[in-house]
Amino acid sequence: MSKEFAVREILPSVRERDREEKFPFDLIKKMGAQGLSGILVPPEYGGLGSDWMTLGLVTEQLSYFDFSVGMTLFAQIALAVIPILKAGDDALKKKYIPAICKGDKIHSFAVAEPNAGSDASAIETTAILDGAQWVLNGNKTWITNATVSDFAIILVKTDKEKGAKGTTVFIVEKGTPGFSSAKIDHKLGVRSQDTGQLFFRDCRIPRENQLGLLGKGLSFVLACIEDARYGVSCSALGVIGACIDATVKYCQERNQFGRPIGAFQLVQSRIADMAVDCEASRWLAYRVGYLKDKGLPCSRETAIAKHHNVEAAARAARAAVELHGAYGLTDDFPVEKFYRDMVGPLTMDGTANVHKLLIGRSLLGIGAFG
Ligand SMILES: Cc1cc2nc3c(=O)[nH]c(=O)nc-3n(C[C@H](O)[C@H](O)[C@H](O)COP(=O)(O)OP(=O)(O)OC[C@H]3O[C@@H](n4cnc5c(N)ncnc54)[C@H](O)[C@@H]3O)c2cc1C
Repeated sequence: MSKEFAVREILPSVRERDREEKFPFDLIKKMGAQGLSGILVPPEYGGLGSDWMTLGLVTEQLSYFDFSVGMTLFAQIALAVIPILKAGDDALKKKYIPAICKGDKIHSFAVAEPNAGSDASAIETTAILDGAQWVLNGNKTWITNATVSDFAIILVKTDKEKGAKGTTVFIVEKGTPGFSSAKIDHKLGVRSQDTGQLFFRDCRIPRENQLGLLGKGLSFVLACIEDARYGVSCSALGVIGACIDATVKYCQERNQFGRPIGAFQLVQSRIADMAVDCEASRWLAYRVGYLKDKGLPCSRETAIAKHHNVEAAARAARAAVELHGAYGLTDDFPVEKFYRDMVGPLTMDGTANVHKLLIGRSLLGIGAFG
């Protein structure tokens, strides 16, 4: 069903969205109407009540056609619905979750700052309690959906003295005085994703907007980011599949030296490498979905799947472009977009180095982060 949806709704406008850096507001509505935004959401909040594996499969299918759209759907669930379900009170759940399911509300999830990327504990944005309100000051950057979101889930310092143990999560509504945003234009890839900065200047929010426990914000957001890594691994898998299909077709049709280029052993070798990467990526991602649905710990498996699958997708996209020869450089063919789109995922939700350190820590029992 999600593949049919993608062929009908996502594919026809993919090039236009990329060229014009256009955010897919219409698709968010349509995914809501189709029920896709309600995967994992309990029926009492308007969702389908299905599981992580289903969400992963749908994300893979959508990302085959457009990585940006697949990840937008996944993030709406993993970085908005799940945190509110886990830590919101009844009023917050009723306010946000049904609206996200319908595609009526868009979130952003803001941790990164100008001086805090891989080291999320270094955030400088503060919240100070003043009567019944928190007063926020600081900047967030590289935030997905920054300028299109109706509300932001943000990590701030509520007690500077306590470092990482003095962090808390809040929800800030668009339109709150002192809260503004600015877009980061002309990215290398994921161009139809909105990415930008958030600014807080004496921004006052009610105490009820606290999400989760005071002082426990960092571990809370890191758990959400781990969920998002599963989404990236599924999206990357979708892109590898798209790279293979586009390349196989091209190599069957393009003739050189009197034969289809797919007849040459060196070309077949590149395609075989892509197929091996695809199968390995598939089972790494699906295993994480399985473990999540069983409620089993899977931090290391998630780090391995994210790290492997984005590297594999970047390799597949490069091979796809090279095997299209000069034609791989134009957007008459889809592969140059795959190539550009697969650079951002190497960094988003944690860089390759950070993932290796997470995997290393889980094996050695020694943290490299201090
Ligand atoms: C497209 C996109 C969307 C994003 N969306 C969001 C979002 O919605 N919300 C959000 O909060 N953030 C978002 N981010 C930000 C993302 O989380 C950060 O970019 C990421 O955590 C890395 O931080 P940085 O870019 O500041 O790089 P840095 O942390 O400055 O890293 C630079 C380099 O140094 C290396 N490095 C850093 N520390 C170590 C170490 N200890 N050991 C070895 N190497 C190290 C890194 O691996 C990297 O190669 C997004 C990023 C991108 C690209």
